[in-house]
Amino acid sequence: MEHPDPSVGPSVSAEAPLADLRDQIDAVDKQVMDLLATRLELVAEVGELKGQHGLPIYAPDRERTMIAARRAEAERRGLPPDLIEDVLRRCMREAYAHEKNLGFTRQAPHLGPAVIVGGAGQMGQLFGRMLRLSGYEVRELDRDDWDRAEELLEGAGLVLVSVPIHDTVEVLHRLPPLPADCLLVDLTSTKGAPVAAMLEVHPGPVLGLHPMFGPDVDNLAKQVVAYVPGRFPDASTWLLEQIRLWGARLHEVSAEDHDHAMGLIQAQRHFATFADGLHLVREDRSLDELLALSSPIYRLELIMIGRLFAQNPELYADIIMASPDNLALIERYHDRFAEALEILRAGDREAFIERFREIGAWFGPHAERFMTESHSLLAHADTQR
Ligand code: NAD
Repeated sequence: MEHPDPSVGPSVSAEAPLADLRDQIDAVDKQVMDLLATRLELVAEVGELKGQHGLPIYAPDRERTMIAARRAEAERRGLPPDLIEDVLRRCMREAYAHEKNLGFTRQAPHLGPAVIVGGAGQMGQLFGRMLRLSGYEVRELDRDDWDRAEELLEGAGLVLVSVPIHDTVEVLHRLPPLPADCLLVDLTSTKGAPVAAMLEVHPGPVLGLHPMFGPDVDNLAKQVVAYVPGRFPDASTWLLEQIRLWGARLHEVSAEDHDHAMGLIQAQRHFATFADGLHLVREDRSLDELLALSSPIYRLELIMIGRLFAQNPELYADIIMASPDNLALIERYHDRFAEALEILRAGDREAFIERFREIGAWFGPHAERFMTESHSLLAHADTQR
C-alpha cells in the first residue's frame, strides 16, 4: 500500500522499537513467571506445615496485615496499590486451591466411622472428601443401602445427613438407633424442621449445619458455615474445629433466626431471579443481542440470573418452598413491588426520589462500601472477557 493508514497498524519507523520493547516485555513476563513459581512453591510448603501442625488454611489476620503492608510498599514505589492487591489476592486464591488436597489434622483422633447419609450426592461427596483428607473413615449410606443400614452405622462416631431438603425429616425417622455418643448432624439448607427431627430421633449429641456454599467450591477457605447447637454442644466442638481448619468461617445462629435470614438471603432472592428468568423468556428477545449491548455491570447482572438455571431445579424448588414463612415473605415482596409500581403508574417522580433516599438511608454506610466492593468486582469482570 502506498499510503498506509497509521490507525490500522504501526508505521515502518515504529516497528523496530516496538518489537524491541515487546521482546523486553516478554523477558519480564518470564521473570514474573519464575517468581510466581517460587512463590507457589513457598506457599505449598506453608500449606504442608499448616496441615502437620493443625493450623487453619485461611489465616485472616496474616492475610490482612500482608495486603496492607504490600499496598504501603507499592505506594512508596509509585506502583498502583490496587494492582498489587489484585495480583496478591489471585496468588492467595491459587494457594488455597492447591491446599485443598493436603491433609488436615484430625480433631477427633478416636472417633468411630463417619457415615454420610446421601453420601453419593454433591454435598455428601464434598464433606466425605474433606473428612477423608482429615483422616476419618468415611462410609456412605445412600438411597439403595438401607438394607445394610445397621451394618454401616455400627460404631458410628458421626452421622451426617445430606439428602434433599424434602426427604430430610423422613430419612431421619428411618435411621435405626445410633450409638449413644454418636454425633448426629445435617447439612440441610433449612434448620427448623431438621434440627427438631434430629432431637426427636436421637437422644445423643445433635448439631445442625448449613454450609453457605454449593458443591462447586474449590476449597472451604473463606466460606461460611452456619451452625445451630442442638444437644450436648461440647460433643460437637471437634467438628466445628475441624471445619475451621478447612478454612471456613463459622457462624452460630438459632434455627428460627437462620430460617428467617435464609428466607431473605436465599428463598426470596432466588424467587426474584426465577421471576426475572421467566420474564426474559416471555419477552423472548435475543440473548446474544442483550449481551452484545451489555457493559460489564449489565453482563454481570445477566450472569447472576442465568447461572441459577444451570443448577438443580429440585434444590431451588425445595429452598423456595421450604416453609409457609417463605411464601408469606415472598407475598410481602410482591406487595412492595406493587407499591413501587404504583409510584411509576402515578408518574410521581418526587415520590420515587423520596423512597430512593429512604432506602439509601437504611443501607447507610454500607451503600458506599458496596459501591467500592462492586467496583473491584466489575474491574475483575472486565478482565475476564
Ligand atoms: P444431591 O441431590 O446431590 O444429593 C442428595 C443425595 O441424597 C443423593 O445421593 C441421593 O441419592 C441421596 N438420597 C435421596 N434420598 C435418599 C434416601 N431416602 N436415603 C438415602 N439417600 C438418599 O443434593 P445436594 O445438593 O448434595 O444436597 C444435599 C443437602 O445439602 C440438602 O439438604 C441441601 O439443602 C444441602 N445443601 C446443598 C447445597 C447445594 O448448593 N447443593 C448447599 C448447602 C446445603
